[in-house]
Amino acid sequence: KTDDGEDVTPVRWIRINPILVKERYDDVLAELNKKFPQRVNSWKQIVPGSIYYDEYIPNLFGIHPGDKITSHEQYKRGKIIIQDRASCFPAHILNPNSTDVVIDACAAPGNKTTHVAAHIFGDVDTKVDSVKIHAFEKDPERAKTLQMMVATAGCAKGVKIHVGDFTKLGKPELFQNVTGFIVDPSCSGSGIFGRKAIDKVNLSKTGSSNTDEDQTSVEPVEQEKELFEKEQDLKNRLAKLSSFQYQIVKHAMSFPSAKKICYSTCSIHAEENERVVIDLLLDSKVKEWGWKVRKRTGVIPTWPRRGWTSEFEEVFPKEEAKELAEGCIRALPKEDGGIGFFAVCFERD
Ligand code: SAM
Repeated sequence: KTDDGEDVTPVRWIRINPILVKERYDDVLAELNKKFPQRVNSWKQIVPGSIYYDEYIPNLFGIHPGDKITSHEQYKRGKIIIQDRASCFPAHILNPNSTDVVIDACAAPGNKTTHVAAHIFGDVDTKVDSVKIHAFEKDPERAKTLQMMVATAGCAKGVKIHVGDFTKLGKPELFQNVTGFIVDPSCSGSGIFGRKAIDKVNLSKTGSSNTDEDQTSVEPVEQEKELFEKEQDLKNRLAKLSSFQYQIVKHAMSFPSAKKICYSTCSIHAEENERVVIDLLLDSKVKEWGWKVRKRTGVIPTWPRRGWTSEFEEVFPKEEAKELAEGCIRALPKEDGGIGFFAVCFERD
């Protein structure tokens, strides 16, 4: 249980960090199998002492949250990294290799930065000897955590950290060789459970809430007024967030050699997800630059939960709306084994 008394997900996700493991991969895996001797076929079957090999993300494993991993030597040395499964989607979808140069526009604490680094520097014969990732973080305190995480993951020489606002410091003319982007901006966090954020989710759409707060004996009219105000607050907040999210992805799209951009949030609200995608697709500059949504075949095609077609249908013809929604990925909090999440990949030739 969390401090809020909510149940946590019955699985903890860990990934082997190929940068520090290289040819010793099989040894690290053998050690994990020794520690967690029972292999299960689904994360839903996880019990203490068992391990699940994830079917979507390479090098990712599910274990029981009660099984201590933080005291494990391999964890302390950065060879094993704890990272929610959905949070592994962006780097996996972007799929950069050693010929790419990637900007992580909103990088701290560094989960996705280090996962991108695993793709770029993880091959047995690739050395971490030149900067291939530019990680932007506007909050100096969070940038310190990012720096620590990058160092622990063994990719400090490959990642240049820029402390500041990506939309101001990341001038396209200074980054002519950048081919890919991770854009994972601040969001409402409504997909993260064990936080008060989940209360806001209950308020969205239906306008009703089932949190403890609302079980009190407030007069119905007062209660409705309060709910209405809360809903207005949420709407205003989402409008501000989605405008910022749209701007930051659009800025990434203006980089001349960029070919692929993975946009993600840990929000379950369409305003921050499908609707940001729609606004971008309707933007004349975005059209002129040639950006499109990558089709399902290139975005973890076997993952069953996709974007919301109904949102795209409000703007695009039925077939196109379906295809766009299929290109997006959604994960539900808990039900899909971790946080609520959204991801989409823009690309151009
Ligand atoms: N991608 C990170 C990870 O996987 O560990 C999580 C990123 S968090 C959702 C968003 C981060 O973006 C925050 O640390 C925030 O301070 C930073 N941020 C927000 N606006 C920014 C901007 N304009 N430029 C750079 N960083 C920004």
